[in-house]
Amino acid sequence: MQNLERHGECLCGQVKFALTLQSPAVHVCHCNICRKHNGGPSITVSCQADSVKITSPDQALKWYQSSEWAERGFCSACGTNMFSKLLGDNPMYYGVSAALLDHQDDLFTEEHIFVDKKPAYYKFDDDCKMLTEAEFLAQFS
Ligand SMILES: [Zn+2]
Ligand SMILES: [Zn+2]
Repeated sequence: MQNLERHGECLCGQVKFALTLQSPAVHVCHCNICRKHNGGPSITVSCQADSVKITSPDQALKWYQSSEWAERGFCSACGTNMFSKLLGDNPMYYGVSAALLDHQDDLFTEEHIFVDKKPAYYKFDDDCKMLTEAEFLAQFS
């Protein structure tokens, strides 16, 4: 059985977390919000929200509501973008920046989403599934 428990922290180390990955699959999002928030596409894994344990002294972790349905967590001391989740007190999943995990060797890119929002100046050289915004959102309707 693959161990999907991970730890991680922001760049300055004030915000630390432990969680259990839903799977080792990485999703790359090219939407405008992710690219603005990250300075590039977001590269994230998903985890069960009830597995997430965050320690953040001095309330370093801040949440920003980035759309009508989601908010993003970042360290207010060093600016590291860390989490995304649906609004509300009981989201099922957290998205977590893959770069923050202590073990990354077993991760693999599964799909790219919002590829119709990707600018031309960068590209990924892989054969993963490519979903437009409409194709991605159709999965939930
Ligand atoms: Zn930090
Ligand atoms: Zn996005």
